[in-house]
Amino acid sequence: MVKNVLRIALDVPVATLFDYFDAEAAPAAPGDRAVVPFGTRQRVGIVVEVANASRVAASRLKPVVRILADAPRLSSDWLELMRFLAAYYHRPLGETVAAALPPRLRSLKPLPKRGMAGGEAGRDGKRDFVPDHEPNPAQAGAIARVGAALGEFRPFLLHGVTGSGKTEVYLRLIAQVLERGAQALALVPEIALTPQLEARFRRAFPRARIAVLHSALEDTARTHAWLDAVRGDAQIILGTRLAVLTPLPRLGLVVVDEEHDASFKQQEGLRYSGRDAAVLRAKLARCPVVLGTATPSLETWFNSLAGRYERLALPERAVPGARLPVVRTVDLRTVPAEHGLAQPVLEAIQQRLARNEQSLVFINRRGYAPVLACEACGWAAGCTRCSARLVLHATDQRLRCHHCGAEQRIPRQCPTCGNVDLRPLGRGTQRVEESLAALFPQARIVRIDSDSARRRAELVRTLEGIGRGEADILVGTQLLAKGHDFPDLTLVCVLNADSALLSTDYRAAERLFATLAQVGGRCGRREQPGEVLVQTRYPAHPMFRALERHDFAGFAEAQLAERKSAGFPPYVHEAALRAEARKLEAAMAFLRAAARLVPVPDEVRIYDPVPYVITRRAGRERAQLLVQSASRPALQEFLRVWSERLFAAAPRGVRWHLDVDPIQFD
Ligand code: ADP
Ligand code: ZN
Ligand code: ZN
Repeated sequence: MVKNVLRIALDVPVATLFDYFDAEAAPAAPGDRAVVPFGTRQRVGIVVEVANASRVAASRLKPVVRILADAPRLSSDWLELMRFLAAYYHRPLGETVAAALPPRLRSLKPLPKRGMAGGEAGRDGKRDFVPDHEPNPAQAGAIARVGAALGEFRPFLLHGVTGSGKTEVYLRLIAQVLERGAQALALVPEIALTPQLEARFRRAFPRARIAVLHSALEDTARTHAWLDAVRGDAQIILGTRLAVLTPLPRLGLVVVDEEHDASFKQQEGLRYSGRDAAVLRAKLARCPVVLGTATPSLETWFNSLAGRYERLALPERAVPGARLPVVRTVDLRTVPAEHGLAQPVLEAIQQRLARNEQSLVFINRRGYAPVLACEACGWAAGCTRCSARLVLHATDQRLRCHHCGAEQRIPRQCPTCGNVDLRPLGRGTQRVEESLAALFPQARIVRIDSDSARRRAELVRTLEGIGRGEADILVGTQLLAKGHDFPDLTLVCVLNADSALLSTDYRAAERLFATLAQVGGRCGRREQPGEVLVQTRYPAHPMFRALERHDFAGFAEAQLAERKSAGFPPYVHEAALRAEARKLEAAMAFLRAAARLVPVPDEVRIYDPVPYVITRRAGRERAQLLVQSASRPALQEFLRVWSERLFAAAPRGVRWHLDVDPIQFD
């Protein structure tokens, strides 16, 4: 008996499709969502193939419960994207699809009905474009190059210094895309940046429908935005990395803003690079992709040097009269400091206060102090579940682990010797805020970090307030470093740059340069000149010379030379196999066995397993091994064979994952 067999992807950790038979009158097709029995309950899966035979015995083949038709069928292009990502990152297709769909699309609950709130700014609104500025020659050149490529796949690097008006370029291009009746997808690294860009977009396109997509949206809002995008009702799709996985029927342009940002890489489950997926997406949709940044990732820079990406330069700030800030180091070895703030830094802040300008004090560490210690016996508060110190949070009087989230009250006395005089060592944002408040009692100080920014709406209000000049001194982490345009900000002080200079991670210098250029780039964006002061004990470090000269190309050249001689990406391709278990030895043993599991071809190199720098997290010990190859296809083929065996080889109690193109090793 020939049956209509549906091969269905389900979100289960098994790299296989599941066969069901289709007894419905209207036959299902690939891309349909299907309710099927699985174990003792029902699940929603995605029909990937339709066949007329199955390896499962006919008597055991179960029928599909029903096909869901309340959302458009997922397109074959989109299924191709999913297949590619599943293969490239070596994850089950079912898990990949699940990562790409909003939870509601995979649930048995019916989809929410659209109220009146959606508005009727339909496709007729596409011609309304309200520009902010006439593009300057550099912007016009970039717009012309990308504009000429609309309708074909072409990747561009928009290398524009901070404040060079990259957004204006995006807006003009999007206007052209809407004019053609197509959709534009714009990705930003942080949820906190979406409201600003959304506001910019809404001003520029008052009648267009904009779908905003990120992980912090509540279920119904996210489902509506997704449906708007998938039905083609939304002309502009704006979101964080997950937005790149949205099916889009008429995709005409992809923009990745701050393409260098590490948060484009997902760090769990399907560990995809949102930036790389964006390029793939553009390729499948045959449209241009624009990767915008002041500090390209070395991968992207390398691609532009090799001619694979066309480089478009915006070498100057866009506001007439605005200049890049003057960058100077402050030598902590010779200059007196008070509460961790060097004298020249304090004087510079004082000057800004006198002139009614804003200062930003950047310290990439939240909390009050990273260590609480007993000076009598040397005890320091540590996390019982992680090999890490607990961070002192003064605002709510807690000790908190930044690795596992564990927290406890501050002890009254040393648990080892009973000393009651416990001391905070080092400083975080809260302590710097406290010091600044004592030093500048008349100043309005605002702290921004992920503790102060718990509620998103509040963060948006605070940032808007800063933009209107409702603060004198800002203290914050990298949340303050990215993308913001604060007109009155003329001074940026960086307190603790040195730890990254000492890191063993070969990407640390790249990240530090990007962070400093980005945070420094927040100041002097209008007529008033900006100044950046970096406190350091290593003022002679070549990275600072490059930073002072705003010489990204020179910095990148030196970094690439180092990477080349050491055999690091982008000259080789990498994957990491990571394992965790209750006992370190179990994780190490699994990795050692894994390294011998299949023959390793000549072009591929497997390194010995090593424990993580922070070995224990949340009660589990962690280790990893690195796989490298100069040939991406050779690496991919090895990973394919290897990962299939790994799925079967892991002993109980050992959790593992593969990370393809890893960027973080701690
Ligand atoms: P980037 O994203 O490159 O850091 P933005 O797009 O935020 O820069 O632009 C920086 C500032 O320059 C904004 O205030 C913007 O309004 C302004 N701007 C952009 N283009 C022009 C232009 N052609 N003429 C004048 N000002 C401009
Ligand atoms: Zn003690
Ligand atoms: Zn912990």
